[in-house]
Amino acid sequence: MSQSAPTIMWFRDDLRLADNPALSDAAASGPVICLYVHDPALAPGSAARWWLHGALTALEDDLRARGGRLCIMAGPAWQCVLRLARQAGAGAVVWNRRYGGAARQVDARIKLALKDMGVQARSHRGNMLHEPWQVRTRQGAPFRVYTPWWRAVRAMGAPLPPLPVPAALGFAALPPAVEDGLVSLSALGLQPTRPDWAQGLRDTWQPGEQAAHARLATFMATRLPGYARLRDLPARPATSGLSPCLRFGHISPRQIWHAVEAQGDVDADGMCFLSEVGWRDFAHATLFDCPDMATRSLRPEYDRMPWRTDPAGLRAWQQGRTGYPIVDAGMRELWHTGWMHNRVRMIVASFLTKHLLLDWRAGERWFADTLVDADGASNPFNWQWVAGCGLDAAPYFRIFNPVLQGEKFDPEGDYVRRWVPEIAHLAGRAVHTPWKFPHVHRGYPAPVVDLADGRARALAAWKTL
Ligand SMILES: Cc1cc2nc3c(=O)[nH]c(=O)nc-3n(C[C@H](O)[C@H](O)[C@H](O)COP(=O)(O)OP(=O)(O)OC[C@H]3O[C@@H](n4cnc5c(N)ncnc54)[C@H](O)[C@@H]3O)c2cc1C
Repeated sequence: MSQSAPTIMWFRDDLRLADNPALSDAAASGPVICLYVHDPALAPGSAARWWLHGALTALEDDLRARGGRLCIMAGPAWQCVLRLARQAGAGAVVWNRRYGGAARQVDARIKLALKDMGVQARSHRGNMLHEPWQVRTRQGAPFRVYTPWWRAVRAMGAPLPPLPVPAALGFAALPPAVEDGLVSLSALGLQPTRPDWAQGLRDTWQPGEQAAHARLATFMATRLPGYARLRDLPARPATSGLSPCLRFGHISPRQIWHAVEAQGDVDADGMCFLSEVGWRDFAHATLFDCPDMATRSLRPEYDRMPWRTDPAGLRAWQQGRTGYPIVDAGMRELWHTGWMHNRVRMIVASFLTKHLLLDWRAGERWFADTLVDADGASNPFNWQWVAGCGLDAAPYFRIFNPVLQGEKFDPEGDYVRRWVPEIAHLAGRAVHTPWKFPHVHRGYPAPVVDLADGRARALAAWKTL
């Protein structure tokens, strides 16, 4: 292969220029073709698609500012990548690894086909602190419990320092045949039109690498002090909101790690934050070892759970009309902004799988479609954790009482009042028990299930396992 053969940088969940090992590899090899493939088989849910549109727009802008462009193709990834490699006479295709079962199969197939064509395929770790196979027990097995996994990660020391944006990033000219196979970003139809339900997302988020770093800087300056104490209170903006940025790779976990360490001694807040970032790696490592995590319970006995069928109950939960204010506030925050506070995610997930006794997979699917940070690892991992069937999970019999959770984590009721205007006139924590004030309701529903009955029904179902 001649020296000037271009290298294809295949962007996937790593939509950034800095600390992008595959891009640095491509840049060091000669002229680069930057590619994104929209493969319908691996496309994200609706809210994440909205984010993806903004993310690709930002990446296009960043590449254009450096004299390059983003080539976008649509269709099965193996067809698109192989066609581009052939038409462009590429010497290599490079990418950062993914860990989901379907994505890994696609990548393995492409790697083999490229090899047959005499084109190199080189993959890198770009989105994780460590590869799943690097963090193992002494016996070489996957960890099943987070605390020892995190201890092992910390014992490995800081990850290597992040890479800068490649200084010499040269772009290859595209043969005319290649142009014919490209599509515009708008042709992907990632944004909702009829109806356009994305106003709340636009008001809340700014996708892209630069915005992600601005968000991290603001978080470090204003919210990291006190993070460990305040991160469970949904009324306060106490967490980073970086989850969609990590999901789409605008920022890497090791950039975050080094930003925290750069502040000096990592205190309890810094360590607590890094440990949360660690959960993301743990979820991906679990997905690597259990590729069907989104469809099968990690504890197989839970697949015999007598889940109920209750379309009306599921709809009430999805629409934030269960009659339990903290649950409804969370589901409405999700619908409006594409994001929900972690504590409230746990409360709504517990309510669905326990008080309503509905299959965790129904909740996982709803989140996959409505979260901007929806992720094939963290989403099923956390659903299984709350439902009791995951690794290191909270036991099923630990059933969150949504009233007590609301009173504990939203003691003034401000979070509920923000999202449930029908009961916003109830003062203080009275907002968590609106049924005690029936004369002042304004169209807010009565509870869909009695908490004691729902709890007893869930425990009876669990005992059948
Ligand atoms: C039922 C359920 C479903 C979830 N689905 C997703 C999902 O699809 N995508 C997703 O990124 N997170 C998911 N989470 C985890 C968590 O709720 C979000 O990562 C967090 O709320 C994001 O807010 P933040 O960026 O402000 O978090 P911060 O508190 O600032 O944490 C920093 C980062 O650490 C990571 N993180 C924190 N908590 C977790 C966790 N429990 N598991 C994995 N990573 C974590 C995230 O990348 C997050 O951005 C889910 C949690 C539950 C209970």
